[in-house]
Amino acid sequence: MCRCSLHYSQINRLTMAVFPLPKVDDMTIREWSTCTDTIENTIQFAQTLGLLPVLPPTPCPNGHDNWYLGKYSRSIDKYQWRCREKNCKLTRSLRDGTFFSNSKLELQQILDLMYYWSQGVDTYDFLQRQCNFGSKSTIADWKNFLRDVCAEHFLRHPAEIGGVGHVVEIDESSWTKRKFNRGRVIKNQWVFGGIDRDTRECFAVLVERRDAATLLPIIQQHVRPGTTILSDEWRAYHSLQNGPGGYIHQTVNHSLHFVDPVTGVHTQNIENMWMCAKQKKKRMMGMHVSLLDTYLMEFMWRRRFPERPLENLIAQIFELYPVLKLE
Ligand SMILES: [Zn+2]
Repeated sequence: MCRCSLHYSQINRLTMAVFPLPKVDDMTIREWSTCTDTIENTIQFAQTLGLLPVLPPTPCPNGHDNWYLGKYSRSIDKYQWRCREKNCKLTRSLRDGTFFSNSKLELQQILDLMYYWSQGVDTYDFLQRQCNFGSKSTIADWKNFLRDVCAEHFLRHPAEIGGVGHVVEIDESSWTKRKFNRGRVIKNQWVFGGIDRDTRECFAVLVERRDAATLLPIIQQHVRPGTTILSDEWRAYHSLQNGPGGYIHQTVNHSLHFVDPVTGVHTQNIENMWMCAKQKKKRMMGMHVSLLDTYLMEFMWRRRFPERPLENLIAQIFELYPVLKLE
């Protein structure tokens, strides 16, 4: 008789498939806490979310495919996978091959951090208190992991905005690079981006230069053909109108006015976007320059998934760490 309270060995692996996620973005903190109150509930919840497997992906090294979850008080998860076969004592960590592997934090802590982070509640003091983190550097590590998930997402599904009938505003913005924890400005860093007026989706990338040779390929990469593009009169944009992509290009002369009095063209959406992005950066005082790239990815990610951030985050972690799920 096995002593475990959770076992899934009857499940046929072949029938497993991705199933719709629970609507975690609709959960209140009270409902979320109920799902993660005991370690048993947390494990089951993480399995439901596809963050922990319902079975290890492979048989034990002795070739048995007969795993069960057994109690194991020395593990932080209080359970481990055990081979049920007689005389085979092989075990495996619950976290093998998952997003949680190599972490010494409790599952609850990581899940709670994901819950808050996805909602944009991600200040260090708050997370440290609410998720019971010992150190701020651990929080920084996990925020970086989550930012990496955002970056991975854009590698697989690049930001593409606009299209026929859509209006996209583009602009370059100057960001100062600072050395970590020091105020001295090192150099100017240009960020180039665009925002779709209709969908509010955006792209923002670091650029070394802001000449046509740099910017035009980026526009073609991120702005769909046939889009109406609005910009200031920066000369790098001059060939947009008759170049590849079939863009309709309109400009506003910023040295004269913010809104063109005749055409009504303005780029206030992208300027607001830069303001938002920089405000948040300011709160992350001393952000290391190497993080700016993934910081922009996170910014774009939040614009892409304003409605259901947590469900998308979880689904994207599943893409990176596919585990066996219940059908
Ligand atoms: Zn075995």
